[in-house]
Amino acid sequence: MKNKQFLNQLRVICGANIRSINANIMYRWISKFQSYPITVNQKSAMVFSPHQDDETLGCGGMIALKRSLGVPVEVVFLTDGRYGRPEWITPETIVEIRQKEAVNALTILGVSSSEIHFVHQLDGSLQDLPHDERQHVVNQLVQRLQSFKPGEVYVPHRKDVHGDHEATYKLVQEAIAASGIQVELLQYPIWMLWQNPISFNLKFEDMSNAYRLAIDSVKDRKKQAIESYISQMSGLPDGFLKRFFLPYEIFFKH
Ligand SMILES: [Zn+2]
Repeated sequence: MKNKQFLNQLRVICGANIRSINANIMYRWISKFQSYPITVNQKSAMVFSPHQDDETLGCGGMIALKRSLGVPVEVVFLTDGRYGRPEWITPETIVEIRQKEAVNALTILGVSSSEIHFVHQLDGSLQDLPHDERQHVVNQLVQRLQSFKPGEVYVPHRKDVHGDHEATYKLVQEAIAASGIQVELLQYPIWMLWQNPISFNLKFEDMSNAYRLAIDSVKDRKKQAIESYISQMSGLPDGFLKRFFLPYEIFFKH
């Protein structure tokens, strides 16, 4: 039994290491050879985040850069994040804790609490929402888009290998179409490079139209914002965070 536990543990550690190495190689390959450089611009941005941490991991540098220039940024969280819970936190309190952590992280990046919105859908439910509930969510997103009128919208990558993340892409895309406003859509990868070692399931066109934003000047602030998600730090796989501390953020335009 002990041997079996040991072997299972070894498998988890080796799996995480292989994913970590692959994710880093792919990230560095995209940022060096497979992406166009972009610089921060004056367009206001609305970031849609399935859980409390995705926005900071995927777009924290972009948010800090825009805010340092005084460009408006709003963030919309789609789920309550109740299943991202370490053992030492009860299910009753995790939702509140993650909301506070989101406000803390975004304050560090320069976004005030009045620019942060919570849609409060159940964590893990976005892919299978009943028709009426789904329409209700889309309507809320349309309202957010129409009142803020962003120049850019940031969403998780459409192939991010996570139900809530891929559903967020679809819901936001639908909301943009229904809102009638013209925006530039940029996709940020969170799990895509991690869950697709050596690009399984990814076609070459999925990796094309990649853009890299240098975030050197705000890298430390992004790190501090990521670390303010205290409840999430222990639940992430070893090595997962590494690429989010690098001096570039990658976005895809399709
Ligand atoms: Zn997430």
